[in-house]
Amino acid sequence: MAERKNNRKKYDVTGASNHAKFGGKKQGRSQGAKFKPNHDSKCPVSHLCGGCQYVDIPYEKQLSEKQKYIDDLLGKFGPVDKIIGMEDPYHYRNKVTASFRRMKSGEIISGVYEEGTHNVLPVEACYVEDQKAGEIIRTFAKLIRSFKLQIYNEDIGTGLIRHLQIRVGRKTGQIMVIIVTASPVFPSKKNLAKALVGEHPEITTVVQNINMKDTSMVIGDRNQVIYGKGYIEDILCGKRFRISPGSFYQVNPVQTEVLYGRAIKYADLKKKETVIDAYCGIGTIGIAACDRAKKVIGVELNEAAVHDARINVKMNNIQNVDIYSNDAGRFMVDVADEGDDIDVVFMDPPRSGSTEEFMSSVITLSPKRVVYISCGPESLARDLTYMTKHGYQVIRMTPVDMFPLTRGVEVCTLLTRANAVKY
Ligand code: SAH
Repeated sequence: MAERKNNRKKYDVTGASNHAKFGGKKQGRSQGAKFKPNHDSKCPVSHLCGGCQYVDIPYEKQLSEKQKYIDDLLGKFGPVDKIIGMEDPYHYRNKVTASFRRMKSGEIISGVYEEGTHNVLPVEACYVEDQKAGEIIRTFAKLIRSFKLQIYNEDIGTGLIRHLQIRVGRKTGQIMVIIVTASPVFPSKKNLAKALVGEHPEITTVVQNINMKDTSMVIGDRNQVIYGKGYIEDILCGKRFRISPGSFYQVNPVQTEVLYGRAIKYADLKKKETVIDAYCGIGTIGIAACDRAKKVIGVELNEAAVHDARINVKMNNIQNVDIYSNDAGRFMVDVADEGDDIDVVFMDPPRSGSTEEFMSSVITLSPKRVVYISCGPESLARDLTYMTKHGYQVIRMTPVDMFPLTRGVEVCTLLTRANAVKY
């Protein structure tokens, strides 16, 4: 899958970071640039935004394109199942990030960056994103004007408002609004939040996220709660999960249940196994699987996600899951050095894939099953090459369409030791 550049949707497809970032060259920025809508597309900015390359392709055709792509790329490793698509492939995204631009008239428009630049394109309606999030963003754009707030100008480093990010817990109905600012000083933030919640009472929390760095990352390290609890919760696979501003959470919750269901089926747990959930984020896979295992060990690098994961274990009254804060590769080396018995490894690395350090330790530990969840088919191909050269075989692969209307596709792969009994 080709890397999509500089688009807000890309960063969750990757899972590469808990901090969504906007790539692209700042020098490509041209705030006054004329924008030419494409009236032949369902979305007038799709040709510039680049976030929904398949928006004008019938859904069945999108699925067959992805199937072919995965068959061609990964078919050599083992059998590829039919891709699992969605019944309703629109507005699935539960996390939406917007940028803003002040027009000469003083009006504030909200939208996404044009691909490869930091030029803000107006987005009226997006087929991928949560619709309520879009409404909140448009209200916020009006409030920027009425509260006379300055939009951050990254070229000269002035202004306050960098981005707005909305995160929605689809099953709980909770909504978090994250106002990313370039400075901690945020005049009238309480009144602004009050006005926003007044218009959208379904918002359950508003957080100021401070990002003072000259970076294309959206979310900075510091959060200040303006209203509500400072996080949202959602329900996945019958368990409850807390999600903080900096934590990764799958962007398509409907398909996440499908994906996890497949991963847990592949793990074939019988309550006797010790399981590692590597790159565990807020602990979702391990917590979803723990009733079927003896013990689950989660490992995650991002501090906010580790914090959430530990709370998620407690909140669900779980006794057999431990979460470790570490680099997954380093952690696996330690576990391999200890010579622990590990029966199953779930691995769900960022889009860039895993590392030889991690995989060579998996091979030393020699678990019966490895369930590899990947949103980066090309890095998956590289890692499967390594794993199959070192004593593992691919039993089955299931593509899951986590990202309808885009080129993105997730693949759940079952590997077993090459000398193990057939699945
Ligand atoms: N399994 C989770 C998260 C998958 S996204 C879920 O399904 O929601 C990948 C996760 O890997 C992110 O939470 C990211 O912070 C984490 N990560 C990235 N690099 C890592 C590393 N080197 N070691 C451990 N975790 C890492």
